[in-house]
Amino acid sequence: MLKVTAIRTLVDNYIWLVLNDDKCLIIDPNNEPLVTKFLKFHKLHLVAILITHNHDDHISGVRILKNIYQVPVYGPKETDYLNSYTVENNNIINILQQYKFTVLSLPGHTKYHVGYYHYPWLFCGDTLFSAGCGKIFNSSIENMFNSLNKINKLPSNTIIFPSHEYTIKNLDFIITNNIALLDNMFIIKYYKRIVKRMIFNKIPSLPTSLYLERIINPFIQCTNSFYYQNKIIKLPKNISNFNYFKFLRNKKDIF
Ligand SMILES: [Zn+2]
Repeated sequence: MLKVTAIRTLVDNYIWLVLNDDKCLIIDPNNEPLVTKFLKFHKLHLVAILITHNHDDHISGVRILKNIYQVPVYGPKETDYLNSYTVENNNIINILQQYKFTVLSLPGHTKYHVGYYHYPWLFCGDTLFSAGCGKIFNSSIENMFNSLNKINKLPSNTIIFPSHEYTIKNLDFIITNNIALLDNMFIIKYYKRIVKRMIFNKIPSLPTSLYLERIINPFIQCTNSFYYQNKIIKLPKNISNFNYFKFLRNKKDIF
């Protein structure tokens, strides 16, 4: 049976590891010494490296880990200089023996950003964060909106593994701007207290679940056409859900 664990690196990054007994794959390793130390300490054998996108804080350990452990690297078009296999939407990767991971194209943060899905787990890189979403770099806000919409079509029990611990900052953005789209501000404030305690005790606030994000995350709520068709969410000045998403993303950029 597969398990997931994390290595915390840099200021707020998580490197996720999926373990099958003593074999593991690793997602977005940015730090070779920390990974090697972790593998040695837990007596784990690295079998593959998965990359979500081409930012340094996701790939800076890849080349050296690939050389040391001689393992295949799966990544999108934008990391082809590091990849053993360049992956696209709906590709199936068979690793850790019989386990299958489906590649989901999730552009928005970067042009060729991908996620890796193994039911019920989604490793989504910098696309969706708890209570927030990724910034737009060399892609478009339309792509980010569509990628979040795609994630929001997965089952509500999907467990989401973002790459950054941004939860408190994202909750602060919602609270400061009073943008609990489902009138769930009391839940958001309560959840912030729980997360603060977790962080204080050095416990990650991640993974999160799609179920929870549908309650607290205005960016994922914007992509839910059911909410709009049934007028569950009331938008200011009758703007479309996409335009409101754009408004929120722009506002978050300067928060
Ligand atoms: Zn990034």
